[in-house]
Amino acid sequence: MLTLSNNARQILNERYLLKDNKGHIIETPQQLFKRVATFVAGCEKRQKDLFEIQFYKMLSGLYFLPNSPTLMNAGCKKGQLSACFVLPVEDSLKGIFNTLKYAALIHQSGGGTGFNFSKLRPKDEIVSSASGSSSGPVAFIKVYDAATEYVKQGGKRRGANMGILNIDHPDIEAFITSKSSRDAIENFNISVGISDDFMRAVVQDLNWNLINPRTKKITKVLKAKDLWHLIVHEAWRTGDPGLIFIDTINTQNPTPKIGRIDCTNPCGEVPLLNYESCNLGSINLAKMIVEKDEKILIDWKKLTKTIHLGIRFLDNIITLNHYLLPQIKRITTANRKIGLGVMGWAELLILLEVPYASDEAVALAEQVMQFIKKESFTASEKLANERGVFPNWNDSIYSPKYKLRNATCNSIAPTGTISVIANTSYSIEPLFALAYNRVGILGNETQTEINTLFIEKIKQLNLWTPQVENTVLRTGSIENIKIIPDHIKHLFKTSLDISWQYHLLHQRAFQKYTDNAVSKTINLSEEKTAEDVSKIFMTAWNYKLKGITIYRYGSKTNQVLQKCSLN
Ligand code: ADP
Repeated sequence: MLTLSNNARQILNERYLLKDNKGHIIETPQQLFKRVATFVAGCEKRQKDLFEIQFYKMLSGLYFLPNSPTLMNAGCKKGQLSACFVLPVEDSLKGIFNTLKYAALIHQSGGGTGFNFSKLRPKDEIVSSASGSSSGPVAFIKVYDAATEYVKQGGKRRGANMGILNIDHPDIEAFITSKSSRDAIENFNISVGISDDFMRAVVQDLNWNLINPRTKKITKVLKAKDLWHLIVHEAWRTGDPGLIFIDTINTQNPTPKIGRIDCTNPCGEVPLLNYESCNLGSINLAKMIVEKDEKILIDWKKLTKTIHLGIRFLDNIITLNHYLLPQIKRITTANRKIGLGVMGWAELLILLEVPYASDEAVALAEQVMQFIKKESFTASEKLANERGVFPNWNDSIYSPKYKLRNATCNSIAPTGTISVIANTSYSIEPLFALAYNRVGILGNETQTEINTLFIEKIKQLNLWTPQVENTVLRTGSIENIKIIPDHIKHLFKTSLDISWQYHLLHQRAFQKYTDNAVSKTINLSEEKTAEDVSKIFMTAWNYKLKGITIYRYGSKTNQVLQKCSLN
């Protein structure tokens, strides 16, 4: 039996269930999961029916969900199933606009694109083919941004982009402040591509050179610390930019002989080579449990089964996918990167009665992700024996000893929509609030939600009263309700009440066992200072995270999640 929450049904109706050309829905949620399962089992040579049934059970049980484009497009004509792409931006008008065309096609199909703009010559440099000067990376990001605005994905959602500029580009200061101006970029996450050299220059208070990528000449020398403070201050003020630690990423590049990685997908969880794409799936950890002697425990057996089936599911997609460009097909099928991750981490912790802000939770995060990594690689190894290694395997860090079907296996995605379909908490994030208004993706509707686990727990304790309900609805928090015991308050601590130290410790625990990357937002309460942000960024580098994003409550006017305040 398929049990879906009201929010899940609404989102499925609006954006996932197939419609006829008059806009009438022509499938049920069950049929959606059947469509996806049948399509993804399509390349199985033996026991196709069995895999189809297993995939269906995994999807309809909400144990695992693939990224949105797979749910929307599997089984449809020319169905593009991947969420993540990286495209190169060459230093020529033709190159810039060819890539924009490719990005528009990807957005139309439901995918998101990442670009590193660092090859572009700086603003105001002479352009030889015309009697003019270059507009520079920030201007071209605005062009990409405007195009994204108008390519709605079949009316479903707007495209998402990552824009990166390296820390030594002459236009880096304009880039860092590019999201705070009045004509700000709306459809981009922006991140500064940070090198270890720069971080050392900040720590040692050295000078830092900005270098023209075309002429290799130094255009400006400034203090590394001044640049750092500019980044920190902007991030504190607006949430952007984030940081991408390029050197850390490249120490774990599985195919360094094929190329250096200088970019990620929009939310940062997949570092990719130019034209490479990746498809993602997330295990719903809140469903990986058993009850024993009235206690809830992790069901490791069920988790193992879901991991193996999930890896197979994602590998099948690479075989069955429709590729929009031959370049994308070439590199994607040569590396066969996939990203199996998790959602519902905060909910699992609540079920196990372990507070998120505790060392026990961080240790458990390591244990769970280490297990997922180990089993994912075992599954990929098995697939290599059955179907062959990924074609670039000889040129990978795994050759000659470790046969694998996929150059990468794991990513922690934000699960922005699929966690709503699965009715669980986002990714590895703590609960945002016990009650909140969620602004719809198209920005025109809001829904009020009270966390159902919280209601259950409080009812169990006989503490559910109209006053409690009211306070939660009003404030989204139980911090000031006297009758609620401290251990329950601790268990239900929400994102803004959890210290940044614990946010980062969770990110580190998951990153340690994730060969791609972890998408996480370090949510901060309004009163946090720029100095806190500086410490967070520095700690993130020391922890060897691949990227870091902070968000201070209220620093964007159109934030997706808002604490409830009905008064
Ligand atoms: P979902 O829950 O819809 O599967 P996630 O929130 O986990 O998606 O995001 C995973 C990746 O999907 C992102 O990093 C990005 O590459 C892509 N993505 C997310 N939202 C969009 C969007 N609106 N348009 C295009 N791509 C998107």
